[in-house]
Amino acid sequence: MTANYSYYMTEAKEIIIKGLVQGVGFRPAIYRMAILHKLNGTVENNNTGVIIIVEGDKKCIDNFINDIPIRTPIASNISSIKINNTKPIGYENFEIVKSSSQSNEITEVSPDIAVCQECLEDIKTQENRLDYAFTNCTNCGPRFTIIKDLPYDRPLTTMDIFPMCKKCNNEYINILDRRFHAQPVACNNCGPHYTLHYNNNKIVDIDSILNKTSAILEEGGIVAIKGLGGYHLACNTYNENSILNLRIAKNREGKPFAIMFRDVDSAKEYLYINEQEEKLLTSWRKPIVLLKLKKQISQYISIGLDTIGVMLPYMPFHHMLFDKLTINSIVLTSGNLSDEPVLISDNEAIIKLGEISNAIITYNREIYNRTDDSVTKVINNIPRTIRRSRSYAPSPIELMLETEGIFAAGAELVNCFAIGKGKQAILSQHIGDLKNLETLEFYDESVNRFSKLFRFIPQLAVVDMHPDYLSSRFVEKLNIPTEKVQHHHAHIASCMAEHNLDENVIGISFDGTGLGDDGNIWGGEFFVCDLADYERITHFEYIPQPGGDAVTKHPWRMMTSYLVHYFGMDVISLYPSLFTDLNKGDLGTIINIIEQKLNSPLSSSAGRLFDSVSALLGVCHNATYHAEAPMQLESIANPNIIDSYSFLSTENISFKSTFVEIIEDILNNVNIADIAGKFHNTIVNVIVETAEVIREKKGINRIVLSGGSFQNSILLEKAEIQLLANGFEYYTQSQIPSNDGGIALGQIAVAAKRREIKKGK
Ligand code: ZN
Ligand code: ZN
Ligand code: FE
Repeated sequence: MTANYSYYMTEAKEIIIKGLVQGVGFRPAIYRMAILHKLNGTVENNNTGVIIIVEGDKKCIDNFINDIPIRTPIASNISSIKINNTKPIGYENFEIVKSSSQSNEITEVSPDIAVCQECLEDIKTQENRLDYAFTNCTNCGPRFTIIKDLPYDRPLTTMDIFPMCKKCNNEYINILDRRFHAQPVACNNCGPHYTLHYNNNKIVDIDSILNKTSAILEEGGIVAIKGLGGYHLACNTYNENSILNLRIAKNREGKPFAIMFRDVDSAKEYLYINEQEEKLLTSWRKPIVLLKLKKQISQYISIGLDTIGVMLPYMPFHHMLFDKLTINSIVLTSGNLSDEPVLISDNEAIIKLGEISNAIITYNREIYNRTDDSVTKVINNIPRTIRRSRSYAPSPIELMLETEGIFAAGAELVNCFAIGKGKQAILSQHIGDLKNLETLEFYDESVNRFSKLFRFIPQLAVVDMHPDYLSSRFVEKLNIPTEKVQHHHAHIASCMAEHNLDENVIGISFDGTGLGDDGNIWGGEFFVCDLADYERITHFEYIPQPGGDAVTKHPWRMMTSYLVHYFGMDVISLYPSLFTDLNKGDLGTIINIIEQKLNSPLSSSAGRLFDSVSALLGVCHNATYHAEAPMQLESIANPNIIDSYSFLSTENISFKSTFVEIIEDILNNVNIADIAGKFHNTIVNVIVETAEVIREKKGINRIVLSGGSFQNSILLEKAEIQLLANGFEYYTQSQIPSNDGGIALGQIAVAAKRREIKKGK
C-alpha cells in the first residue's frame, strides 16, 4: 500500500457499533465494505460491541458509514452507531484484529439462520450446488444446532466429518466471497446428504427423495423429516384423515399442530396477516407465528381455536419440497411421541417415528443442540415470543447488571434455564416440562453443554421458592450458594430485565401458578417491587383448588370450587343447569373434597379463574393440553363488546359479583361470545382500577405486566390501550416469553441485583 497517498486528504474515524453484532459474520462484512471503499484500518470485537477504525478519503469514509446499516449481515441488529474523530496513524491495510478481551468470546455463538435468497439461487445455478439441500453461506445456515465447542471453527461443529472440497475451500478462504469463513460451507462434492428410508429401501438421490416425499404427503401419508433442530412429522394439511392419523400416532388429542406454507401469499388465502406479522413470518428467524383464521383449512389442525401457528420454509429442503408439491401447505409438527423432547438421533427416530410414519428422511450430519421451532404472535403490533428456541437461542440479553457466574434454574412446566456472563444473560433454548424424564435428561445435558460452550463456572444458583421443582432439586447437586426467588417476582423481573428497568414499579403478574410466601398458590398478583425485593399489595381472592395441581387438567373442578365458594354447598340445587354436562359421580367426589378440605391448597391464580369461566360457559370442561381452556375462551370471545361485569376490591379482589352477573347472562341465554368478551373486559378493568389505587397510594406510575395470562391477545391489547389512556407508563414482554419460559431471566436479574447490593455497590 502506498504510504504517501493523499496525505492531506486522509481522515480517520473510530466507529463503535452496539447491538447484536457478534458471532453473525459482522467483521468479515465490515472488512469487505472497507476494501470496497478503499479504506485502511481495523475491526475488532470487544465487550461493548464492534470497534472499527477507518482511515482514508473523507468521501469514502462517509460512504462506508452510510453502508453499515445496509450491508451488514441479516442476523445482526445494530442498536447504536457512535462515530468519533481520531488521528490517522498510517494503517497500511485493513485487518480483522484479534479481540482484545477474552470474555467476549462468549457472544460468538450465533443462532441458526434461515436459508438466504442468494443460496436458494445458487441451488438452481451453481454447478457444484445444483439441488444441494445443505447450501449455506455467511448469511445463513445452521449455527447453534451444530456447535459443539468454541472457537466456532468447523472441527468443533458436527461438520467435522466433512472435509471441504477444493471449490468450497477456495470460497472459505476468500475474504471477498460470500462464504468466507462460513463454517458449514459445503456442496454436492463434499457435504452431508439426505437419505429416504421407505419400505426397507434407502433412496439417496435428492430428486427421487423429493418426488417420493411429495407423493406420500399428497396421498395422505405421514413422513418424518429431519429438520434443523430436530425431527418433524409432516402430513397433508388438506386431508383430514391424515391429520387425525397423525393425532392418534402422536397421542396428541387436542394440542394444535403448526403448519408450513409455501409462501406468504398462499397463507393469506386462509389467514389474516398484517404488516408486522408478515415481517415476523419472513424474518431470518422464520418462527411459527400464531395467525387468525380467515378461512378454515381443517378443524383438526387447531381444534377449538381461531388461530393457527404458521411458518414459512427455512431450510433448502423445505423450499425444494414445495417445488414438487402441488399443495400449498403441510402440517409440520415436532417429531416426538406425546411430550418427549423432539427427537434428534437418527436411530431413535427410525425406531420411534418409523412406527408411525410411511417414510423417514434422515441426513448424515448430527444435530448437536436440539431446538424446537420458536413460537411467536403479534399483539398490539409488537412481536411476542411464546416459545424461544430455534434461531433465537442462544442470543444473549444485555443487562445493566454484573451477572457472571449466576446460574438460573428456571421453572418447572415450561422450563428454560439461563447463565450469566459479564453483563449478559444467556437463555437456553426452550427445554419443556421437567416432570418428563427425557426432558429432565435434556435439561441436564443442556446445562452441561452451555457451561462448556460458554466457559461458565457457576458460583451462585437461583431457584424458584418451590422446593419440589425438579430444577430446584438439580441445583442442590451443584453445591453452591443458592438464592430463592418468588415465582411472580421472577416474572416481573424478567420483564424489567428485558427493558433494563431497575427501580420501583407496580408489578402485575397474571399466571397459572407460583408458590407464595404464605404457602398458598399465587397467580393474580399486584406487587410494588424492584429487582431485589417485592411487596404484595393485593391479589385475587383465594379459592381452594380441590385435588391440587390436577385441577389444571379439569377446569370444571375449579369452576365448581368457585361456585361453592360464592354460593355455598347448595349451588347445585340452586343452579342445576350449570352442572348438567358434568358426570354426577365425579361432581359428587369433587364436592366431597371441597367440603372436607382434602388436598385443596388455596389459590389466587388468574389461570384458574380463566379456566373456571371457560368451564362455566361450557367451552372447555377438561383440558388435553396446558392452558387449553383459557385459549379456547379467548378464541370464542367477542373482542368488540364494550360491556363488562363488576368485581369487588377490598382487602383483595373478589369475583363474586362477576360470577353472579355471568350466571345471570347464562340463564338469560346471552351469547357466550359476548359473555366471554365481557369477562375479558372485566379483567382489564381489574388491572387499570387496581393500578390506579396503587399509583395513588405509592406514587408510582410505571407498570410492568408479565405472567402466562398475558399471552392472551384480547387481555394484553386492551390492558395496554387502557393503561396508556389512563396515563400509565407500561412495560410488557416481547423478546422474552411472559410465560414460565421467561422465568430464568427474571431469576438472574434478581440474583444479580441482590449480589450487587450485598457487595455494597
Ligand atoms: Zn446463504
Ligand atoms: Zn464442496
Ligand atoms: Fe409462571
